[in-house]
This record gives sequence, structure tokens and C-alpha cells, in this order.
Amino acid sequence: MTKVTSANKQAIDGGDLLSVLKRIYDENGRQYFKAYAFVVLCLLVISATTAFSAWIMRDVIDEIFYNQRKDLIALISFAIMGAFTLRALAMYFQATTMKRIGNDLVARYQKRVFSKLMSTGVDFFTDNRSGRLAAMISANIEGIREVLSLTITSLARDFVTLVGLVIVMFLQDATLSLVTFIIGPLLIFGVAYISKRIRSVTRETVHLNARVIGTMQEAMQGITVIKAFTMEEQLSKKIENTIEHAKNRNNKLAVISERVTPITEIIAGFAVAGAIAYGGYRAINDAQPPGAMFAFITALLFAYDPAKRLARLKVNLEKAVVNARMIYEILDMEDKQRDASVAVELAVDGGEIEFDNVDFDYGDGSYVLRGLSFKAESRKTTALVGPSGSGKSTVISLIQRFYDPASGNILIDGQNIGGVTKSSLRQQIAFVSQQAYLFEGSIMDNIRYGRPDATDAEIIQAAELANAHQFILQQADGYDTPVGENGVTLSGGQRQRVSIARAIVRNAPILLLDEATSALDNESERLVQEALEKVMKGRTTIVVAHRLSTIINADKIIVINDGQVVETGTHESLSKKRGGMYARLNQLGKGGKAALDIE
Ligand code: ADP
Repeated sequence: MTKVTSANKQAIDGGDLLSVLKRIYDENGRQYFKAYAFVVLCLLVISATTAFSAWIMRDVIDEIFYNQRKDLIALISFAIMGAFTLRALAMYFQATTMKRIGNDLVARYQKRVFSKLMSTGVDFFTDNRSGRLAAMISANIEGIREVLSLTITSLARDFVTLVGLVIVMFLQDATLSLVTFIIGPLLIFGVAYISKRIRSVTRETVHLNARVIGTMQEAMQGITVIKAFTMEEQLSKKIENTIEHAKNRNNKLAVISERVTPITEIIAGFAVAGAIAYGGYRAINDAQPPGAMFAFITALLFAYDPAKRLARLKVNLEKAVVNARMIYEILDMEDKQRDASVAVELAVDGGEIEFDNVDFDYGDGSYVLRGLSFKAESRKTTALVGPSGSGKSTVISLIQRFYDPASGNILIDGQNIGGVTKSSLRQQIAFVSQQAYLFEGSIMDNIRYGRPDATDAEIIQAAELANAHQFILQQADGYDTPVGENGVTLSGGQRQRVSIARAIVRNAPILLLDEATSALDNESERLVQEALEKVMKGRTTIVVAHRLSTIINADKIIVINDGQVVETGTHESLSKKRGGMYARLNQLGKGGKAALDIE
């Protein structure tokens, strides 16, 4: 199974920095070519004006202060003002354009990752915790923005600025400038060794940070259980450990990446002190005007920041590229269930479903279904019953091709579902899951997910059939009332009826129902049951049944135990079978309304 958390760690960590950079630019470069060009132009202006500001220091000192040329004061001052204004404007346009490109890029990757996640098989999500995944994706996408701004700013601005300033230094004092050629490489070598450890620590840090956020999210989702079981302290302790661990790793990362700082600072100190000492002696001994030396030192001081950033470039890029790689791990995940190139559209008439000798395991080698064979007749209701863990929900998942069987076939109206497109298969199916999921949006939106082109009238009709119309009208905004995380809270029974309305709107010939095990109050139960009966009519229904009334009304009952069919019949025939599993389960269930599913 694909696990983002450990996917090919070795191979990826050993990957080439340049290849990831190249990929990011190949994928996005063209899109932003004009904007990049504009940014580079701004950066050139910034570099030129910076170099000019250093260069003019010589005239400031020599002409104004040394030669006392009053006539030049205004000219030089205006030139400096002009240079700074130009530089300010260029900086402004460069920064806003870069930020805009960055935001756009983040949005592009968010869209790509989301649509990739949507098209990824269900198994990926059972392997990865959702909260952690979301936190990791968000941190990593930021990393891609970082790659872009780092390379552009460092290469275009810092590098060009540095070149400009080095030229100024040469023009002022060639001997002294040679020093920069010794210092430059020194800096780069000093920093190179640091970047080696950055990769593994960064990866670890991203995981730990994501774990902290993921754990918090999960805790918030399960807050009622946590309080009911007074688990607060235990959980707090547990998350405190993770937080501490994450903090330590963050500190480690800081220490490793900040090792660059003292190295660069000290070298810079040496350079400035050396320049002053050398320049001072020369000025005194050779009685030279101090302008050139001032211009040189100004250029050196200006050069310090870009040189520092360039020296850190590799370290920062290593960090950012780790993030980018993690995003590509998701984007490059192979779809294990891709439709075959010869896949055809599923054509459904009655919707008869047949399992033919199906073996299945969840990838861990232990078989959940073994040689399972049964037929669910078209337009009839087939109830699956059996002990918990016997494989009933798995059957429902396999019909929708969330997973593929290890061997055997699943046929709908005689067509093997492995040979049809997944979308045509799923369009013929309406699914009501155990948990009634409602998504961010209005009640109307939530029902419309069943079929996007459904009219409002059809939606209201479905809600009426699902016994939901009444309570929906009682909500503040009726059908437009928002539900989901920040919307109104509906009761369990109400949510179920909304999800039944969604299934009705879908108007598919096949209905799959994983009946909720949680008991509702009698009135709710009756309304849900009634709604279900209406939607089952005329459809091929397979229901994982927990309620006796559903089972009694089913046209056919299939008793599953340990991944195999053990009995088939109707309530009447099976109840009479002495020593039969159904008769036994049914006996246990007497007195309780939903006890056919036993542990
Ligand atoms: P039922 O619906 O009858 O209670 P299920 O079909 O949910 O049974 O589960 C059958 C078996 O498959 C159980 O042993 C369960 O632990 C296992 N199982 C279910 N889902 C998964 C999964 N995503 N990964 C691994 N094992 C699973």
C-alpha cells in the first residue's frame, strides 16, 4: 500500500536537488514566464541602483567633502534620491509580483493535490490519517512557494547585485577586491557540509509537526468521547510527548541551519576589518583621497546581505525541496485501480448483482472473503446478515470497486465490473453509508450531490420521500440552511434522512445500504425505515441489515460468516431451520430490535 509517511524514503532522499528544481520550473515556468521576466527586470533595477549607491560614495567623499565642490552637492544628492526612489519602486513591484506568483502557485498545487486525492483509491485513506495528511500537505505546499522565491530572489537579485557590487569594488580598488575571491569560495565550502543533514531532519520535522496538528484535529472531532471517558489527561500527556518531540526536532533543525550564521558573520567581520586596515594604511602612507575607500567599504557592506543569502541558499533550498518532494510523492502516486484501456460503460437493465467465487484480502494476506458466491436478484432486496467482522461491509465496498477482489468475479447484469469504467459503475449505484456524512454547504447542496443536474423540485420531492421535508422546512433557512462543520447540527435520524434523500435523487437502479447500527429513537427509526422502504422499491438493493424489520421485509437473506455464505433463504424459511446460524442469531436478537449483528 502507498504510505506517504514512508514512501520510498531512501530513493527520494537520495534524489537530486536539481531534478526537483527542474521539475518545479518545467511544470510552472511557462505559466509565469511574463511575470518572471518582469520580476527579473525589477531585480536588475534593484541591483543596478544598489551598485550605483555604492559607486557614488567615492564622489560624495572626494568631490563634496575633500575637494569641497559646492556645485556638485545638488547633482549628487539628486542622483542619490533618484536611485533610491527607483530602487524603492522596483522593490515594491518585484515583491508584489513575486507574492502573487507564489499565491497562484500554492493555489495550483492545492488544486492538483486535492483532485489527485479525490481520484485516489480508498485504500490510501485507510493507510493515512486524514488530519495528519492535511497538515502535511499544507506545510509542504508552502515549501514549493519557498523554492520559487528562494531561487528567483537569490539567483536574480542577490547574484546580480553581488556582481554589480564586485564590479564597483574592482573599480575602486583592484588589489583589495581580490580578497573577495578568497572569501567567496570559503563561504560556500563552509556552508556546503551543513546542508547534508538538513534533508533528513527536515523530513522528520514535517512529519512530527503534522502529527501534532493531526492529533489535535482528531481530538477535537472525538471530543465527546474523550470527555465521556475522562481521557483528557491521558491524551494531553500523549500529545505533550509528541509536541516535545516536534519541538526538539525543530530546535535541531534551527541549530543545523543556523550554523551558517556565525560562519558568515565572522568572515564578514574579517573582511570589513581587513578592508579598513588596508585602506587606512594606504590613505595615510600614500596620502590618497579617502573616497575610493569609502565607496569600497560601502559596496562591501551592501554585498554582505546578498552574499549571506547566497551562502544560505543551498541550506534553505534543501529544506524547501524536501517539502516539494513530499508533494510530488502524492502527485506521483500510481492509481492502482486505473480503468483498463478497453474498459466499457456499464449498461444496467435490472441491476442483478452476482458474486462468483470471490476471494479478497485488504492487502495484509489474511482473507476476509473466501470463495464468496451469491446472487442478488434484480429489483429485489437482499439482506446480508452475520456476525460483526464477517465481511458484510466489505461486500458493499467491492461492489463499488473501492477495492478489487484477489480472485473471482463480481458481475452486474452479467458484466464483470473489473472491465467497466469506475464512473459508469458508480453512476448506477446509490449508496447510503452507516454514518450519514454531510458536507460543507446547504441542505439543498447536500442532497444535490446525489445528482448535480437535479432540479430544486426533484430535490424537494426526494426530501419528501425521505421523510425529511418537514424538518428541513423547520430550519431557519429551510433548504438553504448550512450544514456541515460550521452549520446547524442535525440529529442522527435527520442526517440519515438527508443522506437517504441524496440516494433517492441519484435515481440509480442499484441501492447499497449499510444500515446504521446505532439505535435511533422509535419515531426517528420509523421515519427512516419508511423512507428506506420507499427508496428500495423497484431497485436492486443489497442491505447490510441490522434491523429486524429490514430483514423480515427482505426478499432474500444471505447469512455470511467468516467471509463465506453459510445460509440463504427468507426470514420464514431460515428461522425454521433448526440449528441454523440465522435461527440462532435471530433467537439472540429477540427482545432487542437490532441484535442480529452479534459480536
Ligand atoms: P462486517 O461488515 O461484517 O462487520 P467488515 O467487512 O467490515 O465486516 O470486515 C471484515 C474483516 O475485514 C474484519 O476482520 C475487519 O477487521 C477487516 N477489515 C475491514 N476493513 C479493513 C481495512 N480497511 N483494512 C484491513 N482490514 C479491514
